[in-house]
Amino acid sequence: MRKKLKRFIIFILCFIAGTIMVPAIVSGADASSDIINIYCYDDLEKIKDNPSASYRLMSDIDFTDKDWEPVNFSGSFDGNGHALLNVKVTSTTKDTRLTYDGNMISYDTHFAGFFGILENANIKNLKLLGIEVDVTTKEDCFAACLAGFMENSQIDSCEIYGKVTLKVQDKMFGVGGIAGFGNGSIKNTDANTTLVCVDEDKENKDEQFMGGAYCAGYIDLDGNTVTIDGYDSDHGYVHDGGLVGMYILYPADTSYSGYINNNKVKGAIHFFEDNTDRRAYCSECVGEVMNWTYDFSGNTTDFTRDEVFDYSKDLYPHGNCENTEFRTTQSPATCDEYGYTNYICDTCAYAYKGNFTPKQHVVRQWAEFREATATEVGLNSGECSLCGETVYEEAGFDTSKGIDDKDEAATKVKEEKHISKLPIIIIIVIVALFLTVLIIRTYNINKRKKRRRKKNTNSRR
Ligand SMILES: [Zn+2]
Ligand SMILES: [Zn+2]
Repeated sequence: MRKKLKRFIIFILCFIAGTIMVPAIVSGADASSDIINIYCYDDLEKIKDNPSASYRLMSDIDFTDKDWEPVNFSGSFDGNGHALLNVKVTSTTKDTRLTYDGNMISYDTHFAGFFGILENANIKNLKLLGIEVDVTTKEDCFAACLAGFMENSQIDSCEIYGKVTLKVQDKMFGVGGIAGFGNGSIKNTDANTTLVCVDEDKENKDEQFMGGAYCAGYIDLDGNTVTIDGYDSDHGYVHDGGLVGMYILYPADTSYSGYINNNKVKGAIHFFEDNTDRRAYCSECVGEVMNWTYDFSGNTTDFTRDEVFDYSKDLYPHGNCENTEFRTTQSPATCDEYGYTNYICDTCAYAYKGNFTPKQHVVRQWAEFREATATEVGLNSGECSLCGETVYEEAGFDTSKGIDDKDEAATKVKEEKHISKLPIIIIIVIVALFLTVLIIRTYNINKRKKRRRKKNTNSRR
């Protein structure tokens, strides 16, 4: 009886090994090659279909003449030192997440940014140069360059040069240099942003937030360099800071020990708060602090709090200058530097950069790197004769190849994916069969032995 039980346990263990271990090993081997390389705009758009995967940017991508919809993302994105140039965002996320004001009132809020909503995501080594987020909405909204909302997400070693403009009519809104509302961390990131927030509804006593790093929440900050040029016209309650508009743990009863350390803040926020019971929070690092639960050290500031008391005219960059003609100078791209146009006002010396161009390499010989099909842009690759870097250029679609109907092509891709799983399934079945046969054989041999033994003892009698 005991032996039977032993055999039974071995059988169960083998079965578990066969059905769990084998797929685990196979998928483990698969995971090492799971990073998806992005070479061009069309590749980048595909992250919307698979937003929890791991991506690596292999080339600078110019967004000129394209309108990018904020993408909700929960995977990892390695910019690999490359830049997305001239990204333009004019819409908000369809999805909402809850944001909280200082009285712990929650709001269903929409978001705008290159990423709309980040959840359990990792973003690193990504450059956003010349990004412009320009949103007009009647809904609660947070807008920022990199992410409108972040939950348990990390941003590390990114670089941002851009402008965010939000014109809004609802009660809860804000503009941030890197992120809007949320929690997680932002480290070693360099953000130089112009931020404009215009409250278009004079009746609502709204909650408004602005920060060179982020608007509100409890995102940890370490080692960031933040340059802010902020313009905030509000008829409710202003919460503005060179780094953070309002530090708040949310929802109610949340406890957390965060940090805001070793950041450099430079710039100014020009604002008005048209309100009879004015509070007008605006300071060099954190505007309003709801929870003093974070470590705060090593931050340096060079910040101007510019409060305006004329509420008749909304505040804009270069708003007080009569001259509207900008003189331009070109800074051409090289192997090491991105190109851009410098816009300068000769009357007041206001200046900004725009029209960024990718790094310029010299490639003598191109080779086909990826074949063009009806659904995938072809790519050529070549080595720069000056710096040796491998660079890629788009070679368009090839509608003569494969299928013209995109839906049909998508079905084909799905089928191919299904087929690629077939060998794994076959391996699992073979191993399970092998183990089962082995166990049955061992069991039968033992049974026969036992019978023989029984026979022998019987015959001896
Ligand atoms: Zn001027
Ligand atoms: Zn080069």
